[in-house]
Amino acid sequence: MTATGWVGGLTIRPNLRPPTADYLCTRCWHHQRLTGRDAIRYGARDLPITHRAVCPALSKERTT
Ligand SMILES: [Zn+2]
Repeated sequence: MTATGWVGGLTIRPNLRPPTADYLCTRCWHHQRLTGRDAIRYGARDLPITHRAVCPALSKERTT
């Protein structure tokens, strides 16, 4: 994965000021950002999990 080829998912940039974690859902293109060292350390892993629970594209798949 390259810096210019981001196609979604979880990307963590610990060297930014402040450190930033981005999550882009490739199904519904929902974007969520966490900033702050502690926030990304403890929260970034949960971004895909918590979004999957509310993703409108996934819930659509489930009901059809
Ligand atoms: Zn989604």
